[in-house]
Amino acid sequence: MRRRRSIAVVGGAVGGLAAATEFRRLGDDVTLYERQRYDEKRVNCGEAMTAASGIPLEKTAENGFLNPVPSFRVAVRGDETVIGSGTFPARDAYITDRNLVERRWAAWLADRGVDVRANHGVSKAEFRRLGGEYDLLVDATGQPSLTSKVRAATDEYAGRMVALNADVTGDFSALFPHSRIVFEGYLGYEWLFPKTETRANVGVGWHEGDVPDDYFAAFRAACERNDWPKPDRSRTNVAVIPRGPSLDPARIYRPENNVVRVGDAAGIANRFTGKGISQAIHSASLLAECVAAGELDEYPDRLHRGMRAEYLLSSLVTTVLDEGRTDLLADLLSAASGIDIEAIDRKPYRALIRLLSHPSLAGRLLSISAVRTSVWRALRDDWEYDRTN
Ligand SMILES: Cc1cc2nc3c(=O)[nH]c(=O)nc-3n(C[C@H](O)[C@H](O)[C@H](O)COP(=O)(O)OP(=O)(O)OC[C@H]3O[C@@H](n4cnc5c(N)ncnc54)[C@H](O)[C@@H]3O)c2cc1C
Repeated sequence: MRRRRSIAVVGGAVGGLAAATEFRRLGDDVTLYERQRYDEKRVNCGEAMTAASGIPLEKTAENGFLNPVPSFRVAVRGDETVIGSGTFPARDAYITDRNLVERRWAAWLADRGVDVRANHGVSKAEFRRLGGEYDLLVDATGQPSLTSKVRAATDEYAGRMVALNADVTGDFSALFPHSRIVFEGYLGYEWLFPKTETRANVGVGWHEGDVPDDYFAAFRAACERNDWPKPDRSRTNVAVIPRGPSLDPARIYRPENNVVRVGDAAGIANRFTGKGISQAIHSASLLAECVAAGELDEYPDRLHRGMRAEYLLSSLVTTVLDEGRTDLLADLLSAASGIDIEAIDRKPYRALIRLLSHPSLAGRLLSISAVRTSVWRALRDDWEYDRTN
């Protein structure tokens, strides 16, 4: 019989909770350290959870899964009017009270023998010490990760996106239970994710270069354009999201001694949309699979190899918007309409194949030199796209 491994997971949000779940299932001894208390944890997120079946809780409102959202309706707005749209079904997605989901998930783990230590922020010195005490130390502390702080290398998470979001109340019965995402002429997007017919998470994200001077005024203006309730300043969260590390094989994070990163700590949230919950869950399950097979060293390459198509698709869309081609984005959306929202990230080759089945659209895309450059770089594993060149 194999010896039970001792696993420390630092960071108890979705990535850490998923890692603790996977290692507990493998029969290992797991200790989970979370800086915040679960009953007053502040989460800064749109709270749309895709790949929800990876979460070992019953999908009830009591567990925080408020709206089993059937689809995301995505629109592109030109100067004044909507110039294109697509509907993306969501077979395994919920608009959640994420705080509640994480609290229930941590309790579920504690019931199954995981040593959950909430309200325990791990310092850099303790992190180094834990590395010597456990067989494996999983860094799930988000961006910038504790590993990068210990190594004084937080600049690994270069680039940024700024996102604002807030819970609002209003009458969402015309949209509920569906969700809305709107692209305009800037690099980023706006969302309205209804939790119930009268409560929703609204938000907006801008990529570097398109970030307005007055975030809050721009957020309210975006809500007004969409006819959504205007958020309260006191209820608005502001997040600055580093872009995360590159897929460049020379910069992929290797397990350092026995320390390995999952979720945002591994820099794997989608570069264009900022969506990262299913990516975090996926990375945790891939890590456990590699460890169980005695192939920890394989984990970073397998993780990043699996993400190449997602990166290619997101850099393509980013380039199209960056070029101000909302007309092309509108056509891209209608071409991709009908593909499951999660498949856009996890099986992006479906969207790429769909694109190839519209040769004139593919031709129009490739007639833009920035798009050709972006595809060429992607094919050469050169992911350092930079708006200035
Ligand atoms: C505004 C906004 C909206 C978003 N909306 C969505 C969305 O709708 N859907 C989606 O899929 N993704 C969304 N994302 C992305 C998503 O939130 C992240 O990708 C996801 O939270 C990553 O999970 P994680 O567990 O890796 O890291 P995090 O969620 O960052 O969690 C890290 C955890 O580690 C803990 N921690 C940190 N340091 C320490 C320490 N020293 N000791 C102990 N614990 C520590 C923190 O308290 C935290 O609980 C959004 C992001 C933003 C900013």
